Amino acid sequence: MDKTKSIGQRKKKSQLVLPPCRVCEGNATGIHYGVLTCQGCKAFFQRYQKRKEPYVCSRNGNCDIVARKRGICSACRVEKCTRLGMSKTGE
Ligand SMILES: [Zn+2]
Ligand SMILES: [Zn+2]
Repeated sequence: MDKTKSIGQRKKKSQLVLPPCRVCEGNATGIHYGVLTCQGCKAFFQRYQKRKEPYVCSRNGNCDIVARKRGICSACRVEKCTRLGMSKTGE
């Protein structure tokens, strides 16, 4: 009877433009751990959770966290992630 089930006319997924990663200003991919971040910061935070020793900043915690910069300071990156509200899973 019903020959062709028409696939609902869903809204065409137009390029979703997200604001930049709140941590490093890179290309955000979505909300991770409660904060809009890029894939890199998400992976970084994930790794951080498994870490036992804290990261230590060698510049008094005043590093710029910018995606374009190479070798982002881990201590400051974590600091920024946490300050923005990223939290460990299960909390
Ligand atoms: Zn990022
Ligand atoms: Zn630093």
